[in-house]
Amino acid sequence: MSFCEPARVVSAVSLTPHMRRISIEAEGDWNWPAGGQGDERIDLAFPKPGETEADYEFFNHPDYGRADLGTEPPWRHYTVRKVHDGGRRLDIDFVVHPGGLAADWAMRAEPGHLLGVFWSESSRSHYQSPSGPRRQLLVADATGLPGLGRIVEELREGDVAHAIIEIEAEEDRQEFTTRGQVTYSWLVGSGLGSSPSALFDAVKTMDFPNLDADDTYAWVACESATSRRIRKHLREIRGMARDRHNVVGYWREGADGHVSGMNDEVTVDA
Ligand SMILES: Cc1cc2nc3c(=O)[nH]c(=O)nc-3n(C[C@H](O)[C@H](O)[C@H](O)COP(=O)(O)OP(=O)(O)OC[C@H]3O[C@@H](n4cnc5c(N)ncnc54)[C@H](O)[C@@H]3O)c2cc1C
Repeated sequence: MSFCEPARVVSAVSLTPHMRRISIEAEGDWNWPAGGQGDERIDLAFPKPGETEADYEFFNHPDYGRADLGTEPPWRHYTVRKVHDGGRRLDIDFVVHPGGLAADWAMRAEPGHLLGVFWSESSRSHYQSPSGPRRQLLVADATGLPGLGRIVEELREGDVAHAIIEIEAEEDRQEFTTRGQVTYSWLVGSGLGSSPSALFDAVKTMDFPNLDADDTYAWVACESATSRRIRKHLREIRGMARDRHNVVGYWREGADGHVSGMNDEVTVDA
């Protein structure tokens, strides 16, 4: 396998006003590895603005990372929303927001456009599906919604979860099929760069007792500053053990996602 493999867009549809689902198909002899969980990360190389094909071969140059090869093509972190055909085809859900290179690409993506997919055999999931009886708190803004949707769809019978989700408009709500018992709090119209996020206050005041219990797990994916406040609250006020929650910053207000190293996620739970 090459470090960066090509994949063609096979369909691009609007799920809701602010979410585009792009399906890509592996080109050549590779497939996405099996075994990923809920929030499985995928790193994608994009065409430069105005182009339709990503220069994925840039990342396969033997001197990539060692010598100056010129301007690096843009790439961003996303989530594998669904795996089809043994990893040959993947669905990825893109939040549509102003001023984003990847978001702009998703809005104009058409079948035939080419992306680069960074390939890795190691796990790219933060969500740690706990064994035994499970109560889960799932918190996400729109960028975490693809991961949250997959987590909910993959719950087992008997799992109980409460999901708190921040979206831009009523029409951005989504429905998920699940074997678990899931309750939802949708926060509409806050956060996502337009106004302060309401996620922290919702977590602080939620009715979800005994978060420190051994059978309870929390997963959080949202803007970085908000994720840090929620992590602090879960640890210091709710008494959650470090191995019982994963809190990940998915984007940073005011900073674009162009990072230079392959493992530079915005904030990962320490
Ligand atoms: C592990 C992981 C998984 C992710 N999965 C997904 C996913 O499945 N779907 C998804 O849409 N995103 C996901 N993200 C978030 C995504 O990588 C960032 O939102 C990224 O910045 C988008 O790139 P862009 O080129 O559109 O915007 P950029 O060029 O990176 O940013 C331009 C400007 O837009 C702002 N911005 C970035 N994202 C948003 C946003 N969502 N709303 C409002 N303003 C924003 C930035 O602060 C900046 O000011 C994930 C991130 C991580 C770390």
